[in-house]
Amino acid sequence: MPRLVMKFGGTSVADIPRIRNVAAHVKREVDAGHDIAVVVSAMAGKTNELVGWCADTTPLHDAREYDTVVASGEQVTSGLLAMALQAIGVAARSWQGWQLPIHTDDAHGAARILDVNGPELIRRFKERGEVAVISGFQGLHQESGRITTLGRGGSDTSAVAVAAAIQADRCDIYTDVDGVYTTDPRVVAKARRLPKIAFEEMLELASLGAKVLQVRSVELGMVHNVRILVRSSFEQPENIDPHGIPPGTLICNEEEIVEQQMVTGIAFSKDEAQLSIRRVQDKPGVAAAIFGPLAEANINVDMIVQNVSADGLTTDLTFTVPAADYARASDVLAQSRTRIGYERLDGATDVAKISVIGIGMRSHAGVAAEAFKALGQRGINIRAITTSEIKFSLLIDEAYTELAVRTLHALYGLDKV
Ligand code: ASP
Ligand code: MG
Repeated sequence: MPRLVMKFGGTSVADIPRIRNVAAHVKREVDAGHDIAVVVSAMAGKTNELVGWCADTTPLHDAREYDTVVASGEQVTSGLLAMALQAIGVAARSWQGWQLPIHTDDAHGAARILDVNGPELIRRFKERGEVAVISGFQGLHQESGRITTLGRGGSDTSAVAVAAAIQADRCDIYTDVDGVYTTDPRVVAKARRLPKIAFEEMLELASLGAKVLQVRSVELGMVHNVRILVRSSFEQPENIDPHGIPPGTLICNEEEIVEQQMVTGIAFSKDEAQLSIRRVQDKPGVAAAIFGPLAEANINVDMIVQNVSADGLTTDLTFTVPAADYARASDVLAQSRTRIGYERLDGATDVAKISVIGIGMRSHAGVAAEAFKALGQRGINIRAITTSEIKFSLLIDEAYTELAVRTLHALYGLDKV
């Protein structure tokens, strides 16, 4: 029988009526002849509450006990969903990470999955015909026997790992949006849902902060070639034809995408800050003197631009950090001023980063140049640029974010249906 993994996020299991709705979705696929593993998140808001309780108890808590506490949210949902399934005549059994088990390393709070006992799940499908309802987000560190958790949003990764372990035909991620869009529909009314997107492109989008999927789940899908379908959990289960092509966005291998566009999506972030170090000495070791202390302070540096020195002695260096780290980054640099040796530190928080993503860029020259021209015509100044094989990012004044995104969305033909 074809196997399917169905994953439901927090809003999809937020209360008992919604859990019943999830059960109806699962029943539909069981009736259509699938073996099903369901992966569930904690009910909406539950994990935040549990994390808050840990912090309230003691700010410097033991990471192993943190995992004991926060893993409990998913345990509740898996039990409730198994009950709801049984109540409508579907054989089901709940599984905690330690029961299956799902082995992880011992990085408590951000553990990595090492392996999932897929054969046991497959044996159960065959012998008992039971739906496996698996708690997402949690696992077991084998040597210590302790419960671990995978980091926030980790149940996406649980789902993809289970799908890889049972060689599922697809991993369906049911969520509160109906797919992945060309850009944020709240900013560009013409934003469209993408029928398909390549793993690499989704990885860029997720890394840029698209909240749909945890970054690691996309990485895992790419490595094991698990096709991931992002779809809405709010569609009425009875309106879906389980044999048809379900609506949503399929994240897959690029070979599966026949009509590859040059640009697939445009992401943006206003949570950026720019720091410019003026007249810094142009000599070996300076970059290390600047970025070493920032790394030690756990500050993520993103775009870096260094000017060619005009006088051969000093140069300007510009980079971005998350807006939330701006004050700390300025502090760190002020403290290392004598070691680095620079004249002045300038900064701005009213900046935004616009990123354009598309696998088609690999084989097309001049994609970024078109953007520079279009933004120039609109009087939008570009403060910094970075490029990679399938993405380029531009730093601009925050006030122009919406205009820039709309301009580029039209420029690359994403407005058209
Ligand atoms: N419940 C966990 C969280 O909120 C895991 C998840 O939902 O993916 O981060
Ligand atoms: Mg999530």
